[in-house]
Amino acid sequence: MNLWEKNIRQVIPYTPGEQPKISNIIKLNTNECPYPPSPKVSEAIRQMDSDRLRLYPDPNAGLLVEAIVKYYNLRTEQVFVGVGSDDVLGMAFLTYFNSKKPILFPDITYSFYDVWAELFHIPYRTVPLDCDFKIIKEDYYTENGGIVFPNPNAPTALEMPLEEIEAIVKHNSDVVVIIDEAYIDFGGKSALSLIETYENLLVVRTFSKSRAMAGMRIGYALGSEKLIAALKAVKFSYNSYTMDMPSIYAGVAAIKDDAYFKEIVEKIVVTREHAKQKLRELGFLFGDSKANFIFARHREIPAEKIFEELKKKNIYVRYFKKPRIDNYLRITIGTEEEMNVLYSALKEIVQKG
Ligand code: PMP
Repeated sequence: MNLWEKNIRQVIPYTPGEQPKISNIIKLNTNECPYPPSPKVSEAIRQMDSDRLRLYPDPNAGLLVEAIVKYYNLRTEQVFVGVGSDDVLGMAFLTYFNSKKPILFPDITYSFYDVWAELFHIPYRTVPLDCDFKIIKEDYYTENGGIVFPNPNAPTALEMPLEEIEAIVKHNSDVVVIIDEAYIDFGGKSALSLIETYENLLVVRTFSKSRAMAGMRIGYALGSEKLIAALKAVKFSYNSYTMDMPSIYAGVAAIKDDAYFKEIVEKIVVTREHAKQKLRELGFLFGDSKANFIFARHREIPAEKIFEELKKKNIYVRYFKKPRIDNYLRITIGTEEEMNVLYSALKEIVQKG
């Protein structure tokens, strides 16, 4: 190894779900929305005068911030937007987790957390979920440098009751607690109602799932004025113009079309509840998902085998070859039609054994 190579930051990057290049597949592997975004979104992009692209976008993405402020009845100083919630979360790690004490997150959770911790040299400790994959609040009542977890958790899809989240935030008033609400719109109870009470609580959301805009890259954080000001200071010390103009306009249009948002979320929830029944009939076991995916294992057939067999049938689900979860599949809820194809395929696989 050359000397200059030794100076290079060594990282093992996050591995996103596969985005196969072939068409005609049923893609239930990255928790995307099976429905298109609001028609108002494409209208907003079409109406944007491309001459405006000569100019830099508003570094504060003010129009989008104001649309979010109005939607949730907040103050401008309580909202931060970024390029997907990954951007917001990464920035939040860099901003708030600056202690020598380890930050805490579950052993089974969003697999980007340890990547950011490694990248930014943040000490961390993973806290095991219990045998039912539940987060035990008391495990977080120890000294630490900060806390982060999703609610509902990913990939387990299980919700933590809001009272328990509040207890964790209350017990940790000397550090920042980040609740990653990527999947909250599918039935969980948001911690947003707590941000006025707890200055150390940051709630992170995304347009990628319930607003069907994973391809646009919009995420946001909601929290106290102090937390948001600190996040902005770090962002503006790194890259001012993160969010491009089309994203700002498209994001505003999506927020304004609340009827459409509610309609597609409801459709996904109905399909998910139906999927629980169908998967149970096929011999799958799983906890009560409050997300747009189900994390399930089969009574008899190994998950890896089902994963490979489904792939042969052009149906992609997510399989993690990781301790504790290597016999589980994470199945994103698709359209009712896509799910019917999945059930038939699973039936064949289960019958073959
Ligand atoms: N948090 C969780 C728990 C996720 O599953 C995802 C999706 N991979 C994200 C955050 C990031 O989503 P995005 O960057 O598309 O907003």
